[in-house]
Amino acid sequence: MIKVLIAEDNAVNRELLRELLEARGYTVLEACDGQEALHMIEQALPELLLLDIGMPVLDGFAVVRRIRENPRLALLPVVAVTAYAMRGDREKILNSGFDGYLSKPLNPSALTEELDRLLAKSGQPKHSDQARVGQHGRKGRASGASGSDT
Ligand code: MN
Repeated sequence: MIKVLIAEDNAVNRELLRELLEARGYTVLEACDGQEALHMIEQALPELLLLDIGMPVLDGFAVVRRIRENPRLALLPVVAVTAYAMRGDREKILNSGFDGYLSKPLNPSALTEELDRLLAKSGQPKHSDQARVGQHGRKGRASGASGSDT
């Protein structure tokens, strides 16, 4: 099972993401702030991180910076999930260590596309291919919490 960590301080948004991901067959882990997210990444080694930008303790920019600075975690695909959708925000985010960008309110098909794109890039079979044995799957790794809407 492919593990996806949701780091998001808003409980309603976490629940929405969890439902969308579980419906697509992913195993979902949740963190409510940036510090908890970093802790869970170290503990559970998810295959992908959906990272809110506006969070208490550590915001998404601080979290992705620490991930990129850590050789064990540096290759983790990280997707920003944020209401910061002004002109220039996407570029700023993609220049800050994120691999992808999803704006709120979330578009479910855009979520699916980002997951398929990034998990394929990192060697995971696409969700739609999960029934098959992935010849290119990477080695399996050892195998889960409210706030503002940013
Ligand atoms: Mn937030």
